[in-house]
Amino acid sequence: MARYTGAVCKLCRREGKKLFLKGDRCYSGKCALDRRAYAPGQHGQSRKKTSEYGTQLRTKQTARRYYGVNESQFRKYFAMAEKQPGMTGENLLRICESRLDNIVYLLGWASSRAEARQLVNHGHFTVNGRKVNIPSYLCKAGETLAIRKNSLDSDKFKAVLEANASRPIPAWLELDADNNTAKVVSLPERDQILAPVEEHYIVELYSK
Ligand code: SF4
Repeated sequence: MARYTGAVCKLCRREGKKLFLKGDRCYSGKCALDRRAYAPGQHGQSRKKTSEYGTQLRTKQTARRYYGVNESQFRKYFAMAEKQPGMTGENLLRICESRLDNIVYLLGWASSRAEARQLVNHGHFTVNGRKVNIPSYLCKAGETLAIRKNSLDSDKFKAVLEANASRPIPAWLELDADNNTAKVVSLPERDQILAPVEEHYIVELYSK
């Protein structure tokens, strides 16, 4: 399935939630959802009653868009989550959180998940000392991430690091900002995952 290349703020407005797809702008007064808190399009302001299926579908779309994952990949993650012990919905979110592009974003090494995906694609990071340029790489507890030395010479990269230096880092990640390295201490518990979704709706949708 092709990646969505339209205006990303419309995705937040469609879901009625901040999905933080645009970096600094999301935290500023310029956020489109703050200014126009209704769905895009001609009928965006009309009030509609949402069916149970509609809620399930919107929840799944919100999660997909938040992590920037396409439908087929998301389905694969769901199949993986079902096979793991514990709650399927939680497992699904944990898998999404463990993606390399998501972790790069959470560490403040990119302004948004989309930018993180691009930086990973361009080979700026290592995992356990080896270059990894696959954004969907699933990190494991104990793995060490680093920014490659050559990448740190880039002015653009330095500016990104500087702009995101004050971003709070989740407790399941350990950042060594001086050495531009980080460790995945453990995979996150549900209360450490900030995705704005009630994941049981996704489980209900895919279990039909
Ligand atoms: Fe969403 Fe960010 Fe756009 Fe606000 S600025 S609507 S949070 S992408």
